[in-house]
Amino acid sequence: MQTIDRDVVIIGAGPSGLNAARRLVAAGKSVAVLEARDRVGGRTWSDTIDGAFIEIGGQWISPDQTALKALVAELGKETFQRYREGASVYIDQAGERHVYSGDDEFPVSAETSAAMDTMIAELDKLAAEIGPTEPWAHPRAAELDTISFHDWLHSIADDDEAVNNIALYIAGGMLTKPAYAFSALQAILMAASAGSFSNLIDEDFILDERVVGGMQSVSVQVAEELGDDVVFLNNPVRFLEWSDNGPGAAADVTARTDSMVANAKHAIVAVPPNLYSRISYEPPLPRMQHVVHQHISMGLVIKVHAVYGTPFWREDGLSASCFGASRIIQEVYDNTNHGDTRGTLVGFISDEKAERIWAMSEEDRREAILSELAAYLGEKARDVQVLYLSDWGNEEWTRGAYATSYDLGGLHRWGALQNEPVGPIFFASSDIAAEGYQHVDGAVRIGQATAQRILDA
Ligand code: FAD
Repeated sequence: MQTIDRDVVIIGAGPSGLNAARRLVAAGKSVAVLEARDRVGGRTWSDTIDGAFIEIGGQWISPDQTALKALVAELGKETFQRYREGASVYIDQAGERHVYSGDDEFPVSAETSAAMDTMIAELDKLAAEIGPTEPWAHPRAAELDTISFHDWLHSIADDDEAVNNIALYIAGGMLTKPAYAFSALQAILMAASAGSFSNLIDEDFILDERVVGGMQSVSVQVAEELGDDVVFLNNPVRFLEWSDNGPGAAADVTARTDSMVANAKHAIVAVPPNLYSRISYEPPLPRMQHVVHQHISMGLVIKVHAVYGTPFWREDGLSASCFGASRIIQEVYDNTNHGDTRGTLVGFISDEKAERIWAMSEEDRREAILSELAAYLGEKARDVQVLYLSDWGNEEWTRGAYATSYDLGGLHRWGALQNEPVGPIFFASSDIAAEGYQHVDGAVRIGQATAQRILDA
């Protein structure tokens, strides 16, 4: 058993934990980051699978994600833009395929288009008014948090196709839960955290840039700079002992793994909130933490990667941006790697559809997925060289994707508690960030801000 003493012990070497460590070390503090997995990066993870470079987890950066952009620049890393030339594809509720200019809205009827515009305007207005920092403090918080996003959209316009299309961006596209399972307030927080709902539905904005070498390489580089005496892999924290002797007194924590004991003055729990309860706290956390942590859960999405000999869709004048709220694969994009002659598509299968896909045999699953890609982009989509599905639900130290959110009604009841420390224990995760909420940028921001709170304490 190795025993170490540090100023701060950080649990989790994802972007939140590593950026907290980076800020603390820069300020002269001694730090240990204890990581359960045999790698850093958490929900950012890239690997070469059957000869193809795959971004298994988080990858895109949008222009408003300035904390992440600054970090990437500081590390001297290059970025590149997503391929976006050519027409988009929309498959409507009746299953009819439409090719349209990606600069335009979905090709829907005038009534559906008007209904979508009304919903977008309302979401933009509320996102601007409520903001990402304290949505629970807004006078309409309770009202907007006790109606499901689905029902709220229907209350604006009773048009199924409009509701499904708008819901797609936040339900399937972001929170990765069905629109009946989370509130309008939770959806507004997601929009506000990206600057506006209009930003969120603009794929040229939200899926703007990628890091050459993969997003995980950002965490790998930060961990390398921190060094082996800071970052300890293969060390899931099982126990966190803490005491709080009141304001001004030295508060202490001890984190225990199977092979290490780390003593410190402060701890940062930088794991996804659904995993807070995997750690045994001694003494137990206060009552309200026990209650709240049970009402935060991971969404579920399958990220589909399909690699081809060439990006064949480009020859057909298509960007490969495809949408179909009622399809199994709800969105598809060109995800070709920097400098690669092969073409890569990425698609997303969310929540209930993901469950259905995982329940299939491997053969049926492959057939279902290739049929979907062919429906959008033609029969050439069946001629795939590598087909890989990101399976985050099977990852013990994540248990879903992309991120966690509250049950219906939870955000206004408990949101104010999520960033409150308990004695010497602080919490940091992209899933409790404001700007960059549920994104790598939010992880960087909350990591840095939590480090600063400890430095200011
Ligand atoms: P995590 O990345 O989850 O890191 C937490 C770390 O804690 C992990 O390394 C975990 O192993 C570790 N851990 C857990 N429990 C313990 C324990 N008991 N002891 C020790 N260690 C523990 N974001 C974007 O910005 N752009 C995207 O395009 C994007 N796409 C995504 C696609 C997918 C498929 C997924 C899964 C996520 C995506 N995201 C995206 C979200 C982004 O990856 C996350 O917001 C970000 O990684 C969160 O960082 P974090 O440090 O807060 O948490």
